[in-house]
Amino acid sequence: MKVIIDKNECTGCGSCVEVCPVEAINVVDEKAVVSDECTLCGMCVDSCEFEAISMPELTSKEEDLSLYQGVWFFAEQRGGEIHPISYELASTGRRLADKLEVELCGVLFGHGMEEAAKELIRYGTDRVFYVGREELEHFNEERYANVLTYLIENYKPEIFLAGATAIGRTFIPRVAASVKTGLTADCTGLDIGEDGLLHQTRPAFGGNVMATIICPHGRPQMATVRHKVMAACEIVDHQGVVEKIDVPEELLESRSELLEVIHEEDDTAQLTEAEVIISGGRGLQKAENFRLIEKLAKLVDGAVGASRSAVDAGWIAASHQVGQTGRTVAPTLYMACGISGAIQHIVGMQGSKIIVAVNKDPNAPIFDVADYGIVADLFEFVPALIKELESSSTCEID
Ligand SMILES: Cc1cc2nc3c(=O)[nH]c(=O)nc-3n(C[C@H](O)[C@H](O)[C@H](O)COP(=O)(O)OP(=O)(O)OC[C@H]3O[C@@H](n4cnc5c(N)ncnc54)[C@H](O)[C@@H]3O)c2cc1C
Repeated sequence: MKVIIDKNECTGCGSCVEVCPVEAINVVDEKAVVSDECTLCGMCVDSCEFEAISMPELTSKEEDLSLYQGVWFFAEQRGGEIHPISYELASTGRRLADKLEVELCGVLFGHGMEEAAKELIRYGTDRVFYVGREELEHFNEERYANVLTYLIENYKPEIFLAGATAIGRTFIPRVAASVKTGLTADCTGLDIGEDGLLHQTRPAFGGNVMATIICPHGRPQMATVRHKVMAACEIVDHQGVVEKIDVPEELLESRSELLEVIHEEDDTAQLTEAEVIISGGRGLQKAENFRLIEKLAKLVDGAVGASRSAVDAGWIAASHQVGQTGRTVAPTLYMACGISGAIQHIVGMQGSKIIVAVNKDPNAPIFDVADYGIVADLFEFVPALIKELESSSTCEID
């Protein structure tokens, strides 16, 4: 699918060619021609003073945009427990809904989760659409996508937020495609602009710029947000309603069958929930030296993080990676050892309360975000710190 050029209106001026970020437009015989590279970003539509460019299908929907109202979020649950990302979305959603003066609604799928639905209300949600079915107890991409598409088509929310978790990343793009709207993944900032649209900020071009993305032609405006990027809400004893929704049986059909749920035995979750993270980077020089980081982490009851360079070198599993393409973390204490502080690493840990950096290069960019900077050789500093901690814990026992 690509933008539509009205050949009668097009003058071949080339203004669309200049604004197209993916170089999908050329002027041939004084008329704009669009290639399959078109991503439907809509920038050419806005740039054409002759109104010769339009979006496919979406133009007819444009008249109906005012029918879409309310801010919704997907209240993810696993094993009957609401995932913490849901409270982060509720908090952000509340702020957006208040700005727009509309309702904040949560969508909850599961089985026997009536109490959890009420709990979401207490956290500031005005209305929870609860689809309580055994078939939705565990995540199933087809069923979740079918049911959410059904709800969006019938209730028409203006904004829809979901977690950029394994579940959100799997089925939310499918829903966005089904309802023919845009989706901005991994947002780090969300706000309502003066134009009344959802301004969705996320790192772009390898994290070198922060792009603010809008979705002026489609509804709902859909965004996913990573866990720990936005603050969770507190209980405010809000008043609201839980609306139980019956959905057509055929939406619950699926071609896949769940045989067993196996809980992962790695410490990935430990990384995102940890209060203390000790991270190692390329400065560690080899895999064996990660033992030093592990030893320190164990002493302070923390988790082990890593830069992508350390992961790419095969020194530690990818589940430990912090950053743009790894985990986003926000512990009380983040200690970076031998990590330079590339922007792609910083975006994953800058929400930490206290950042300590150990680096032998006084000009390393990590010191720009560190609360405490230690210019030292980590092979001298870390063993000395371990020794100090070991002796102080021995003193305590004595
Ligand atoms: C699209 C994209 C996504 C990316 N995603 C991520 C991501 O999610 N996470 C991530 O981390 N990176 C990511 N990167 C890579 C990122 O750009 C950097 O290359 C990477 O973070 C660098 O890792 P590092 O700091 O360990 O290594 P380096 O940049 O090589 O830094 C090593 C540091 O160790 C210091 N050092 C060396 N020896 C010692 C010593 N003995 N004592 C103390 N200090 C010492 C050096 O002074 C240096 O500052 C991504 C890149 C791209 C393009």
